[in-house]
Amino acid sequence: MKAYRHLFFDLDHTLWDFETNAHETLEQLFAEYDLGRHGLFSFAEFSTRYRDVNHALWRLYQSNKVTQQQLREVRFVRTLTRLGVAEADVPTDMSARFTDILPYKAAVFPHTHDVLDYLQGKGYHLHLITNGFEDVQHIKLQSSDLKRYFEEVITSEHSGHLKPDPRMFAHALARTGATAAESLMVGDNLECDVLGAYNSGIDQVYFNPDKRRHFAETTYEISSLAELRDFL
Ligand SMILES: [Mg+2]
Repeated sequence: MKAYRHLFFDLDHTLWDFETNAHETLEQLFAEYDLGRHGLFSFAEFSTRYRDVNHALWRLYQSNKVTQQQLREVRFVRTLTRLGVAEADVPTDMSARFTDILPYKAAVFPHTHDVLDYLQGKGYHLHLITNGFEDVQHIKLQSSDLKRYFEEVITSEHSGHLKPDPRMFAHALARTGATAAESLMVGDNLECDVLGAYNSGIDQVYFNPDKRRHFAETTYEISSLAELRDFL
């Protein structure tokens, strides 16, 4: 087994429970903007439609086809117009409101704090490498009390590249003074985290809490963060 010294974690959907936190934020927006008054859709329909629209936009963002600005501008307009609301009736500040509220939510995956305490206690250097936006990611770390574990927080916005671009991983190694051979990447995304790390010569842990079927080869695979203790 390799002697890892630097552990790089993805944040969204790996430590910070994005789905739970986004769901709570959408509930808050649905109530604040009284979206039920249209009589066109339930909260569940609003939430599902938003998720589909946002997912499609993120894919475009990750392949550099839309900008952060465009993604933020379009997501609620598209969600609500597809649910039958006239474009003129879509509140213009809704996306900004979502972005303002979401990072203050604190839900993390089970065992996050236990495992990070354990790994820190064992002397590993812990870092984050995330495709999220700089401003937002730092608030999430404060809200969920995760900041104290990490020596470096590497965001795509700061590095100028998105995972799986090897330049993002090169930037991370340079910033932390780590070598690829002594590094391990932990993340939920097979392309961004696992393939990205693999292409940079970094071993990978695929965090697969839903136990999705796949055909990728990964150094390790876990469905609970607690399993990191089995080999670290
Ligand atoms: Mg992720």
